Order: sequence, then C-alpha cells, then structure tokens
Amino acid sequence: MSEAEIQIKNVSMVYKGNNGEDIVALNDVSLDIREGEFISLLGPSGCGKTTLLRIIADLLQPTSGSVSILEQSPKEIRLQQKYGIVFQSPVLYDWRTVRRNICMPMEIMGIPKKERTARIDKMLELVGLQDFGYKYPFELSGGMQQRVGIARALALNPDFLLMDEPFSALDEFTREKLNEDLLNIWSKTKNTVIFVTHNIPESVFLSDRVVVLSPHPGRLSAVVDIDLPRPRKNVLRETPAFFEYVSKIRRSFEGV
Ligand code: ADP
Ligand code: MG
Repeated sequence: MSEAEIQIKNVSMVYKGNNGEDIVALNDVSLDIREGEFISLLGPSGCGKTTLLRIIADLLQPTSGSVSILEQSPKEIRLQQKYGIVFQSPVLYDWRTVRRNICMPMEIMGIPKKERTARIDKMLELVGLQDFGYKYPFELSGGMQQRVGIARALALNPDFLLMDEPFSALDEFTREKLNEDLLNIWSKTKNTVIFVTHNIPESVFLSDRVVVLSPHPGRLSAVVDIDLPRPRKNVLRETPAFFEYVSKIRRSFEGV
C-alpha cells in the first residue's frame, strides 16, 4: 500500500439556501485515502457525505480547500474515466436489457463491440447475474438491480469506486448479502472504494477505516481503523470484536 493516493485538504463547502443564507455542508475536512483501501464515510443524514463524495468525483467544486489524486485534479481523473459511481437508486434504463445497461458507459467510450461483449460477460459473472443478462430491469428484485448498477460502474475497470448509500433502500437481509458480495467483488477488482452510508454495522463490516462525520456543519469527528481479518463473512457480525467496533463508533456520535 502506498501513501495517500487521495489527499483531501481543508475542504469546505458552503451552499446558498433559498433565502440567500449560507448552508455550511462541510467545514475544513482533511483526509488521506490509501491506494486499494476500502473506506466508509459514515454519519447521519445531512452531515455532508454526498457533498464530499461529489467533490471527490468532480461533480461539485468545493468553496475552499482541495482534493488531489496521485498529484492530479479530480477533473483530470474524471476525464480519464477512472471513477465508477454507484448511487442509492441504480438509475437503470427500463427499455434496455441488463446487458445493454451494463454496456452504456462502454458505448459512450467507443469500446469495440467484441470487447464490450467480453466485458459484459465478465461483469455479469462478477456480480452473480450470469442468467439475467437478457432480462429487463423491472423483472429484477431491488438487490439485483443494484448489482447491475455495480456491474455497470465496474465495466470500465475504474481505479476508484465511489458508492453513495447503494444498499440503503434494500431490506436488511438483502443488504447483508450484498455487503458480503461486494467484499468478494472488491477482493477481485482491488480498486479503492469510498462508500457512503449511515449504517454503523455496514460501515464496520466493509471497511478498512470508517470516517465518522458529524453534522452542522459537516466535520470529520473520528477515523476508526477496523482491524478485523479478511475475508469477512456475515458470521463476523456475531463476534464480540465486531460489536465492540459498532459500540465504539456509536459512542462517538453521542452528544453530537
Ligand atoms: P448527506 O449526504 O450526509 O445526507 P449532503 O451532502 O447531501 O448530506 O448535505 C449536507 C448539507 O448540505 C445538508 O444540510 C443539505 O441540506 C445541504 N445541501 C446539500 N446539497 C445542497 C444544495 N444543492 N443546495 C443547498 N443545500 C444543500
Ligand atoms: Mg447523501
């Protein structure tokens, strides 16, 4: 692991409210993210998680401070198609099959058909949807649709996988299954993952480090190393070590 692949330095974000008032979404956030790390941004709704993720993805410019990625700007990284992004809702095209949904970013990039077909096969296998390539989104469960979203985000083999509460609309059982599957996928893709969630056990289960954000304004209140062995399976959730991390992080929110 090399030092600081992503450097977030003194980032602040102030939005303008409807009446022209300042809304401070992030206040002076600094964070280094290592290559190949699985990091979670954790905090209650409104603490600036999405704002920070969008700044890293070059979808938003911070009011002050900077982000650099291997000495390049987020814009340069975006133009090189190095980000794969998964949102809470997978935003699939209803009239396209699963295969053709996964194909979208590759079409836009002008990747030749033969190569696209090979990559779609590989992605479907990676997310466990081999038998569903010719189905339409409405024929799939919510969890399966989110898998399509992940496959599409990974199709261009991104260095950075940015995920904004990808499983929060799913039931608990499906969420836990997808958590385990995501770790399995990540063990093969080995990219750097920045995962936004408001779910404490989810952040502990997945991450190398959990970055705790507190609201009003969004500040970084703690960074917790999760020193649990990998590969991680869902039985890990029943161990004392796991509970300990969950309680430690929960306590860090008390008084917020
Ligand atoms: P989170 O993802 O943690 O729920 P967000 O980053 O979406 O938090 O929002 C952080 C704060 O910034 C919230 O108070 C939210 O209302 C505000 N905010 C987010 N986007 C905008 C916007 N485009 N205009 C004004 N305020 C915004
Ligand atoms: Mg959000």
